[in-house]
Amino acid sequence: LQRPLSCSGCGVKLQTEDASKLGYLPDQALERDPVICQRCFRIKNYNEAAAITLDQGEFLKILGHVASTQALVVNIVDIFDFEGSIVGGLQRFIGNNPVVLVVNKIDLLPRGMNMNKIVNWVRKQAKEQGLKVVDVVLCSAKRNMGFDRVIEVLESHRGGRDIYVVGATNVGKSTLINRLIQGYSDLDSELTTSRYPGTTLDLVKIPLDDGKFIIDTPGIVYSSRMTELVSRKDLGTVMPEKPIKPMVFQLNPEQTLFFGALARFDFVKGERQSFTCYVSNALEIHRTKLERADELYADHAGELLTPPSKEGLDELPKWTKHEIRVPKGSSSDIFISGLGWIRANGEAGALVNVHVPKGIKVLLRDALI
Ligand code: GDP
Repeated sequence: LQRPLSCSGCGVKLQTEDASKLGYLPDQALERDPVICQRCFRIKNYNEAAAITLDQGEFLKILGHVASTQALVVNIVDIFDFEGSIVGGLQRFIGNNPVVLVVNKIDLLPRGMNMNKIVNWVRKQAKEQGLKVVDVVLCSAKRNMGFDRVIEVLESHRGGRDIYVVGATNVGKSTLINRLIQGYSDLDSELTTSRYPGTTLDLVKIPLDDGKFIIDTPGIVYSSRMTELVSRKDLGTVMPEKPIKPMVFQLNPEQTLFFGALARFDFVKGERQSFTCYVSNALEIHRTKLERADELYADHAGELLTPPSKEGLDELPKWTKHEIRVPKGSSSDIFISGLGWIRANGEAGALVNVHVPKGIKVLLRDALI
């Protein structure tokens, strides 16, 4: 057998002696055609199957065997859509295997926040969602923040086991796995990430140097998130890219805020108070009187009130109304999955109505910020 000297992927000189050095490949990999180094192999196979999505039922089925294996499970969630992206019911399928919650996109939070407070908040919310976690770690995969700590935490809980990475679509799972591969094998090249995942079905196994694997699982589609409803174009408006600039509104009762034509927030009853909106800076908020709100929507949805565009409106489910009693005392968020949240500071109670396309998750929670 003629041994090729260089990798047909990246051109690096090939060697089979030292797995930690460039150009390494295991002996048996020399029989592959074309012959590529382990690093290219990881990247190639990762890219081919990384973009899979499933609904939660299908997803939990394919996770079924994890309960009987030894693994560390990593659930990546998006801090901007925490309740929308946490994998509910995970615990039942993974047996006694430990779960680490990796909270991504912390770069979106307004600057200067107390990160310990966020971690405590996350722990509490996870518990409320029925998820027992051994650790919580915050990071930004895109901005490369907190990543050494992610690796440290994973290694401290891994104990020589495989790592299963699970997450909803758009939480940044691909971006994060890129970083993990780099962190674990000193790769300097990046894999492509995408907003709109494709359709292959297998788990993607990325070999680690100790013979174990990082196993990437299909992204889970939760149709209860605004980010799954909107068009590709509008996703860019709804999903923030930059740190969120909170918008404060002093509202009188019987005033309404429109978030494009995607959601409507009515302050129905209560003393005049401030509401702080944490949504993408690109999403326009319009204030109006409650009594004019229906008319404004009828006349201007898809134009003044946008996204979506006029054509896009027909694609969305009809709105439903959620009536929410905001308690007095401590501050709370009125959370709209995939869109953001509205913080009420608890100085006075309030009765609010939230109108969103049917199926979108809306809930009241302890304030994150
Ligand atoms: P996946 O569907 O979970 O694999 O997510 P991707 O890695 O494809 O990322 C989805 C979107 O979120 C892309 O637009 C990324 O640029 C963005 N994204 C990923 N990580 C971060 C992050 O740490 N911060 C911010 N602001 N955006 C991120």
